This record gives sequence, structure tokens and C-alpha cells, in this order.
Amino acid sequence: MIPIAKPLIGQEEIDGVVNVMRSGVIAEGPKVKEFEEAFARYIGVEHAIAVNSGTAALLVALQAKGLGPGDEVITTPFTFIATANAILYTGARPVFADIREDTFNIDPEDVKSKITDRTKAIIPVDLYGQTADMKAIMDIASDHCLAVIEDACQAHGASIDGKKAGSFDVGCFSFYPTKNMTTSEGGMVTSADSSFSDRARMVRSHGSRIRYFHEMLGFNLRMTDISAAIGLAQLRKIDAYNDKRVENATRYSEKLAGIRGLVTPTVGRGNKHVFHQYTIRITDAFGIDRDEVIRRLGSAGIGSGIYYPLPIHLQQYYKQLGFNDSHPIAERMAKEVISLPVHPSVTFEDINLITDTIRGLSH
Ligand SMILES: *Cc1c(COP(=O)(O)O)cnc(C)c1O
Repeated sequence: MIPIAKPLIGQEEIDGVVNVMRSGVIAEGPKVKEFEEAFARYIGVEHAIAVNSGTAALLVALQAKGLGPGDEVITTPFTFIATANAILYTGARPVFADIREDTFNIDPEDVKSKITDRTKAIIPVDLYGQTADMKAIMDIASDHCLAVIEDACQAHGASIDGKKAGSFDVGCFSFYPTKNMTTSEGGMVTSADSSFSDRARMVRSHGSRIRYFHEMLGFNLRMTDISAAIGLAQLRKIDAYNDKRVENATRYSEKLAGIRGLVTPTVGRGNKHVFHQYTIRITDAFGIDRDEVIRRLGSAGIGSGIYYPLPIHLQQYYKQLGFNDSHPIAERMAKEVISLPVHPSVTFEDINLITDTIRGLSH
């Protein structure tokens, strides 16, 4: 079976973990600080705040930006549930804007149409490893004095016009094992703003700057030195990992060109897409149903995934909360997308097998 995702753990990661275990400091300590500094340098921002998941990064960012009951936050319904749940945790209300069919990312025009006097922030998501239209979103945010919390959980090292994902206002990253780099569980908040970063550090650790003195309500969302040691080793390899993902994606797009009813990914002008996922669309013209394509791939030993099969506004829990809006592009994409294995362990031989299998289904 060619798996849809596979974390790459080498001797460096193992040695890093063992050294931390031997040091005696196994919770947050010097390795977390070292990882934060290295990650901030990598993204090109002043501050990075390590937390224990991507979900925690979003929660910390929203709390530190002061979001709460009565506020609205505009985001995409075509993302992992954590993006919208983080808004709910604060008591604010998610407001969904539809996506663009070419990039799967939030449509700045639809964002504009959703702004009210209660809107306080926008959460664009860099879906599949391609940065959202950050220029348009930052312009809208500055016109309306909104915070921008970029969900870059799938976009470590992606950039647009040379500016890295996570370096615009606030960035949130996940280091879950399936992501482009991992710390096992883990996350990071990035920002250029010192006072925001101070608050984010307090939210992470019970509202405390000095141990046992508490200035605000916070949580325990800290990363451990064990995770940070894995992250430091992975950060040294992320560019090589991403290069291999891009090579694999390029190969896929060459081999899948010209198949009727199959749409390969679009990379926007100026974008460095880091292909967290390589996602094609199977439209009606392909002749075989998307779910049947997935079954046939499975029988040929090829893993694949649907990210995501049900947009958030249609999830049962959100319907119970009263969401009854419709976002036709997100809804259609949820029925058409298939992600194919693109991670660094996938070889050109694997891609030949996968693309030949798909081509064989098309007629
Ligand atoms: C993975 C992911 C998250 C959540 O990260 P966790 O580390 O699993 O909590 C949030 N948003 C997006 C877009 C993700 O892909």
C-alpha cells in the first residue's frame, strides 16, 4: 500500500528525544525556546510561541487577539474542523465565506460581503499547502481594522511573492505527524507584534508571566522539550522535504495532463505551493464517480484521501447551532476532490503506477 501520509523520523529526531529524556527537563524548557527562535527565523518574524497542537495555536491566537462573545470571525467552510471550532471556544461566532474553485482557498470577494459591524477577524486557511490570497485579505483587513489569523497548519515554508505563510499578521501552524513537518503533537503561533506575543505566551500558560502570579485567564497549552527536540531536527529538513513534494506534484501534473473530467491543481501566480496535499478534482465528465475512483485506487494498493468530505457549515454540530447558509463552491469541491500520496517517501515509480491506474479508469 502506498500510504497517503508518512512521517519521516530519522536518527537526529531519536537522538534529540533521548538527549532531552537524559537531561531531566522533559516539559517546557530550553529546547522549546531554541525551537521557537529557529522557527521564527525560518518564517521571518520576530516571535514564535510553541504550543501543543495546531488547534491550541488557533485558540491562543484568538484569545490573545481578544476575541469573545458578540464578535464575528470570517473563515472558510472548506477546512479541518479545528479552524472553526477555535472560534467557538472563545464564544465568538464563525461566519463562513465561500472558496475559489481554482485554489480551494477563501474568496476575498465573498469575505467582503460577509463583513458586519461585529466582524473582528478573518481566518484564511492555506489549504493543501498553498497560501490564501493574502494580499487581498490584508487589504480588506486594513480597510476594516480586522485581525488576520492565518491558519498555516498545512503550509510550513509556503510563500507568496517571497513572503512566507505565517508572516502577515498572526500565523498558526500544526506539527501533527501527517503535516509537512512534525513534533508528534505540536503547534506554533507566529507574529511580528511584541504585545500580542506577550499575551499569547500568557494564554498558553495560565495567564502568567511570573510563576504563580496570574494576570488573565489562560490554559496549559505548552509544548514539551521532547516535542521541541523533534521539531528542531525536522526544521533542518523541511526545505528538502518540501522540494521533494513539489517535484512529486510536478510529476503528477505532467502525467495527469489532458485527462477528460480530471482537474489538476492550480498554483497561483507568485505562490510557492508546498503540496501538503496534491489534490485533483474528478468532475462528471470523467465518467466514473469520485468515490468509485477511490475504491479502485484502494484495490490497486494506492492510498488516497478526501479533504474534506463535508464542509463545516453542514456538519451536524454546526447545524444544531443554527447554521443554515450555503456555500455552493465548497459543497461541490467536497464531492469532487481526491488527494493522492505526494509526501517525500513517494517515488516517481509510485507516481507512474498511480497515474497509469487513473488513466486506465478514464476510458
Ligand atoms: C491540522 C490542522 C489543524 C489542527 O492542527 P492539530 O495539530 O491537529 O490540532 C487546523 N487547521 C488545519 C487547516 C489543519 O490542517
